[in-house]
Amino acid sequence: MKLIVDHSSRFAKMRAHTATHLLHSQLAKIFPQTKQEWSQVDIDYLRFDFSADRLLDQFEIASIEKRINHIIYLACDVSTQEMNIDDAAKLWAKMFFEDKYGDKVRVVQIKNTQIPPELQNDDIPEYFASFGDFLSVELCWWTHVANTKDIWCFTIVWQEAVASGIKRITALTGPRVSDKIHEVQNILDITINKLWIKTATQLQDKIDKVLKENEEMQEGIQNYQEYKIKDELQKEKIKINWLFDIIVKVPVNLNFKTSVAISRWLYKWKSVLICNQDWSFAIISSWLNSAKKIAQEALLKWWGNEDLVQGKDESVIDIYNKASFYESSHTKIINLAYASSFDKKDESASSSTLPI
Ligand SMILES: [Zn+2]
Repeated sequence: MKLIVDHSSRFAKMRAHTATHLLHSQLAKIFPQTKQEWSQVDIDYLRFDFSADRLLDQFEIASIEKRINHIIYLACDVSTQEMNIDDAAKLWAKMFFEDKYGDKVRVVQIKNTQIPPELQNDDIPEYFASFGDFLSVELCWWTHVANTKDIWCFTIVWQEAVASGIKRITALTGPRVSDKIHEVQNILDITINKLWIKTATQLQDKIDKVLKENEEMQEGIQNYQEYKIKDELQKEKIKINWLFDIIVKVPVNLNFKTSVAISRWLYKWKSVLICNQDWSFAIISSWLNSAKKIAQEALLKWWGNEDLVQGKDESVIDIYNKASFYESSHTKIINLAYASSFDKKDESASSSTLPI
């Protein structure tokens, strides 16, 4: 049997793992008390959980990314050295104090280096000087790339809070960085095409415009729906029976919820049954009876409160079909504006009496 080592994936994991060391030491600059909580490494992929009381802002993320790419460009040596634990402590190696270490430990150091002339701008020299001799010192038994240049490239793709006081950063290294750029660029291209614009810089304005148009359109639809519902609810042959002053069936193309809301406003003080062909219904309380009581009398299955109950019940269609049209059963025209209450059981006594 021959042991086959997949060199390409092994190197990809080494890149991601060595980048984890760099990320850890960069985070320690922002959160001096931070501690590694968990670390996961895969092919040019890393996930690093660390203790922090807040998430990084976008400038800090951009800055960490830039610093790590500087370190990759600077081609810093990565060395490993076995030493005794006390010597390692003197080097300020980041240790996990919960872990048990033997007398001998392995220290992984990433050496600081001379800043070349092309990077002698901004605060770069000062920042790198603040690390001293090593950009990172950690106790670790894993395998690493020999030089930071072998990481190729580094990008943070995600940041999240995973538990109280624990944040997580997900990042990519090596060729996966350019894969990610292509993926994002592709999404951007598709979006630009769909929005009929030329460049990504126009995207923000275009999205704002589309959102505004959409909002106006929604408003228009809403107004039209309300107008239409109001119209239907008044004209749509209103029915009546011994229990309900008003029975209306909402056409399927109109919004049921809005129809109920408008009915509450239109038919105040009346016992109203609003239904649709899907057996959905709502009952509005009258001047005399609560919606609950009316629903009980109508033998409908319902939920709700004194003012309004709702439900879904097959028998609501039966109630609607058996009810008579208002026009044919009443000679008096209902005055919707005043929405009066009248005796439900005695049709002859249906003279309007306004509630005071
Ligand atoms: Zn390591």
